[in-house]
Amino acid sequence: MSQHAIDIVRSKGRLPARYGNFIGGNWVAPADGEYFTDYSPINGERLVDVAKSTAQDVEMALDAAHTARDGWACMAPAERSRLLNKVADRMEENLELLALAETLDNGKPIRETKAADVPLAIDHFRYFAGCIRAEEGAISTIDNDTIAYHFKEPLGVVGQIIPWNFPLLMAAWKIAPALAAGNCTVIKPASNTPLSLLILAGLTADILPPGVLNVVTGPGGSVGQAIAANPRIAKVSFTGETTTGKQIMRYAAEHLIPQTMELGGKSPNIFMADVMEADDNFFDKALEGFALFAFNKGEVCTCPSRALIQESIFDKFMERAVARVAKIRVGDPLDLTTQMGAQASGEQLKKILGYIEIGKQEGAECVTGGARANLGGDLEKGFFLKPTVFVGNNKMRIFQEEIFGPVLSVTTFKTIEDAIRIGNDTVYGLWGRRLVAQWHQCLSGWTWYPGWARMDELLSRLSSPCRLRRLQGIGFWP
Ligand code: NAD
Repeated sequence: MSQHAIDIVRSKGRLPARYGNFIGGNWVAPADGEYFTDYSPINGERLVDVAKSTAQDVEMALDAAHTARDGWACMAPAERSRLLNKVADRMEENLELLALAETLDNGKPIRETKAADVPLAIDHFRYFAGCIRAEEGAISTIDNDTIAYHFKEPLGVVGQIIPWNFPLLMAAWKIAPALAAGNCTVIKPASNTPLSLLILAGLTADILPPGVLNVVTGPGGSVGQAIAANPRIAKVSFTGETTTGKQIMRYAAEHLIPQTMELGGKSPNIFMADVMEADDNFFDKALEGFALFAFNKGEVCTCPSRALIQESIFDKFMERAVARVAKIRVGDPLDLTTQMGAQASGEQLKKILGYIEIGKQEGAECVTGGARANLGGDLEKGFFLKPTVFVGNNKMRIFQEEIFGPVLSVTTFKTIEDAIRIGNDTVYGLWGRRLVAQWHQCLSGWTWYPGWARMDELLSRLSSPCRLRRLQGIGFWP
């Protein structure tokens, strides 16, 4: 199936032998002429070569962005809004192409890229195109003779760095609001998933004025640093690991520029005894919530990667929950029936297998999974894993550290106070979900009641942003 998908992307002219950087509305070869290969995690085969950029390429992109800056900032909001809506329309016309590219590059199931990643990315452009039409300043009275005007102004040129778990959606989260607010951007995709953003840049080349959107590819350690530490950016927005986020904040501190940090997570799902009062739709939803640790292969910042089960129902609950996990269909992500695809890279697969080993050594009981999924045939070299469930205690590393894979760590609690204490016993703080028949008390972030397992809600909280806490980051999510 991969070859067929590659042929479709290629036939649309979006899979050239190699991609340069997208700077000033043109494809520009990297200054020192070096490229690296982007492989598909589905079968380990080459997809495309992309620019292995350096600080020099970042400077070129910043030149282009600064040239475009005033024109874009001074454009009437109605006109900027119109262009962002055009970007959304263009993406919609190319939904299948973008979804195929995302699946090939990231390994996530096509049913998700088609129904969630790409449609939600499109919606972000429409949402922010709408927002700017209604954006207003304010006036406050200081005393009878003095009033203060509050204007909202663009920052200028911003730097944006994104991870590999939702390459296009994460890019939309950053590009759409920045451009809507009149900023120009220099954005860097993760090294192993640049394809969908490069395709998006090409699709918008005749819509956005040159220099408004600039995409520079390459390693985080050099290109990411060259963006984040650059005195010519007015803000850095980063999504990725907590350790990388801390490093980027150090760079940004040099120039005292604002930052948005969306970092790691270790969110708990809390199952109260009353979810099993009846074998009904509600209980079914609860089981679906349990199994969602494997959504997007567990490569989700808000992944419910811990489950806390009330002691009195533990055995009966786990019997049903493990049976539910066993039904998750791991397979070719290009097959519409597949629910869990390939991990995004060999490196990530290795990291997850390492954590599975740690869990076993810590004495956690592996109740299902715990190994690679060997799918054979064309998928022999793909990075597939079996959804894995451990039972242990919250002090274990597999409960405390972000694994970023389809690995769930389960433990028990007696009372709700117990559950809240265990749930909050983490350095992170983005989401808490309590599955109960009655709404009660919120953990850090959101608590959803009762059936939260809707993918559109999971990925698109456009109108209900959540303040990031603790080591989860700074700013609002999304
Ligand atoms: P990562 O930190 O390894 O990389 C993210 C980006 O930063 C990549 O583009 C990378 O090339 C770049 N980078 C790496 N080192 C850099 C450096 N020294 N300077 C500048 N840039 C650098 O993260 P990842 O592995 O790609 O993504 C997974 C992480 O992202 C997980 O921790 C996940 O929880 C987090 N995440 C958080 C959210 C959220 O909203 N909180 C959303 C999605 C992902």
